[in-house]
Amino acid sequence: MYINGRDCIFCRIVNGATEGYIVFEDDVSMAFLDIRPIFPGHCLIVPKEHYETLIDLPDELIGKIFKNAKLIAHAVEIGLKAEGSFVAINNRISQSVLHLHIHIVPRNRNDGLKGFFWPRNKYKDEKEILEVQSIIRASIEEVIGREKEKSL
Ligand code: 5GP
Ligand code: ZN
Repeated sequence: MYINGRDCIFCRIVNGATEGYIVFEDDVSMAFLDIRPIFPGHCLIVPKEHYETLIDLPDELIGKIFKNAKLIAHAVEIGLKAEGSFVAINNRISQSVLHLHIHIVPRNRNDGLKGFFWPRNKYKDEKEILEVQSIIRASIEEVIGREKEKSL
């Protein structure tokens, strides 16, 4: 997918041209596993439309996308049995893919992360990727179910 003359890997994932190990999708956004996770279950949530940074994102999309970031963070914590999570956006500096993305990373006390020079890991094999994907998908359903119950 060429955007402003550049190939955009996240547009490719959104359009189904590249496997993204998707965990969630609605009309405006998609969440998938980061291919080089800080920890297994590290997700990225992106707007389906190509916007480069948070500053470029239309105001009317902020509520929905941030609500979805909350859902994914909750699901990642439940699914990966994490004590917490880290949610972050790089705008231009340290941004290696120029399609806005929110990082959602499971965190635990003493997990070894300090500052922002974080080591990246690889999933062992595709089996591990598919297992983590299905865990997060299941916990997204669980969180949606809990929210529905709360609103009854
Ligand atoms: P940034 O450095 O821009 O904040 O984060 C970009 C993220 O995209 C990195 O964490 C990197 O591992 C991830 N990434 C890069 N290429 C791909 C890809 O082809 N597929 C997926 N799923 N993630 C990617
Ligand atoms: Zn894009």
